[in-house]
Amino acid sequence: MTGLSASAGRCGTMPVHRRLLDTAPGYIATRADIEDFTFQECRRRRAEPPRVVRVPVVVHVVWHDEAQNISDDQVHSQITVLNADFRKRNADLTKVPQVWQSVVGDARVEFALATTDPNGAPTSGITRTRTGTTAFDTDDAVKSAATGGVDAWPAGTYLNIWACQLGGGVLGYAQFPGGPAATDGVVVLHSSFGTTGTAAAPFNGGRTTTHEVGHWLNLRHIWGDDGEGCGGDDFVADTPNQGGPNYGKPTWPTMSCQNGPDGDMFMNFMDYTDDDAMCCFTVGQAARMAACLAGPRASLAAGDADPPVDQRPTGDAAPPAALFRRWVHVREEDTPGVRVYRRADLPLPPARGRDGIEFHPDGTFVDLRPGPVDAPVGATGRWSADGDGCRLELTYPNGRAAACLHIVTVDENVLCLRPLAG
Ligand SMILES: [Zn+2]
Repeated sequence: MTGLSASAGRCGTMPVHRRLLDTAPGYIATRADIEDFTFQECRRRRAEPPRVVRVPVVVHVVWHDEAQNISDDQVHSQITVLNADFRKRNADLTKVPQVWQSVVGDARVEFALATTDPNGAPTSGITRTRTGTTAFDTDDAVKSAATGGVDAWPAGTYLNIWACQLGGGVLGYAQFPGGPAATDGVVVLHSSFGTTGTAAAPFNGGRTTTHEVGHWLNLRHIWGDDGEGCGGDDFVADTPNQGGPNYGKPTWPTMSCQNGPDGDMFMNFMDYTDDDAMCCFTVGQAARMAACLAGPRASLAAGDADPPVDQRPTGDAAPPAALFRRWVHVREEDTPGVRVYRRADLPLPPARGRDGIEFHPDGTFVDLRPGPVDAPVGATGRWSADGDGCRLELTYPNGRAAACLHIVTVDENVLCLRPLAG
């Protein structure tokens, strides 16, 4: 199972995915739930740009030969590439043909090396571990001290990136959301990492990590992972159907699967072209990543202690993470001045016309009111928090008066809100 064949390809994500489908308890069901959620979320928020999320990153440098102990500069060069590529700020976006300029997406994800380690101590966000292993495989040995690597930091708080020697021609691999926390993150060949130091052409543009972090945020390969066939799907509507991967530096247009006249979007980060031939995500891919950060990776968005200043909803406080779910108003439990809500996925005593509310980490909420057939009708607005994170201001897009609420208590089962005057 752990042996690499020549056909393993440059990205090991799908072989790892298939291994987890076979071996990881609950992974199949969790993946199905995540895809259901992603589909609903992408439909719901189609026209709504999510707020920028900044993800704390730890880079684990695992080295056998001195040269593999890559420099801080090389690590920093990779973070710089991620912040350009996931914010549509990379200079080579001009390589996108005119016909697709309108579907280039800003994923609105930023990355910063962690400044606090899991014990609360200051950190550079870089760990260094010497190993006896000459080259790692896609079997996740690099992710555990017991097998020659280094343990992951908590996956709900950090994006773990391991930079090391990989064998078998693999440039990197990722674990999709929904897998075991102990192995969550991405692994990248040190010589395909960053833009300086050991980074070697044609993979010295930092795009292997961009590609793998795309998988980590639930993106599929653009050709749909069905070999060279035309039936595979990347679950993204604005990428053309495509046969198999493209390599090197193709010339546009390159056709497959009757996708002329424009052909394959081989300049997409989720293809296999050279680093200097790939340059974009699409709007549809950005929506899938936003759904990932609103769902299975919401803890990374909610725990964002240092968001970009211009993207804060207001104030500088984050509400408790437990707020972010769907709530049903249980009127019979209200006390004077306090509304009591219970989480919507647990059974409640029957009652007609229950209203509810659903909060999302991206600064939106859905006000759920009873509809004509007792199905709640949603209205989406925006929330902002200030004070200690427990004063919420709700604004509605149609000019309806804003509401102010104080979070009296919230945990994963019960939410108590006190409406405030003014
Ligand atoms: Zn891949």
